[in-house]
Amino acid sequence: MTNKSGQCLCGKVQYKISGLPISQGICYCLQCQRSGGTFGSPLIVVLHKAFDCSQENLSSYKTKSNRGSIVTRNFCRECGSHIYSQISDVPEIVTVKVATFDDTSDFAPQYLVWVRSAPPSCTFPKDVPSFQENAPMEMLLSLGRASF
Ligand SMILES: [Zn+2]
Ligand SMILES: [Zn+2]
Repeated sequence: MTNKSGQCLCGKVQYKISGLPISQGICYCLQCQRSGGTFGSPLIVVLHKAFDCSQENLSSYKTKSNRGSIVTRNFCRECGSHIYSQISDVPEIVTVKVATFDDTSDFAPQYLVWVRSAPPSCTFPKDVPSFQENAPMEMLLSLGRASF
């Protein structure tokens, strides 16, 4: 999974990711459910400096996470697609919504977080470590690149 590109539904927001992701997983938290309109939200963690996104058609919305940090969700102001988020206490990374990639074929989640917020009808990928709530931030940031 290198040099990914992606876009919003209308195409006015475009981005490129250079290099390899730090980690990738699926979040089932209620905030991701509401903002994404889906139970599970596939995301990758990448270095902010590796993420090159057109800014002129973006809007953002801030929420407080249960870690106490401020999460800024950036979405297309034209079509509403949620593209990426920033977390106030780890400004060096961004999380990008994998479903906006041009090619999602090699997405391979390494963890599932907030599975307790998923409805009973939700099915989960097999053999992926899952957490009832957050996984340790250190884990999300240190899974390493060897597994990609
Ligand atoms: Zn758009
Ligand atoms: Zn979430």
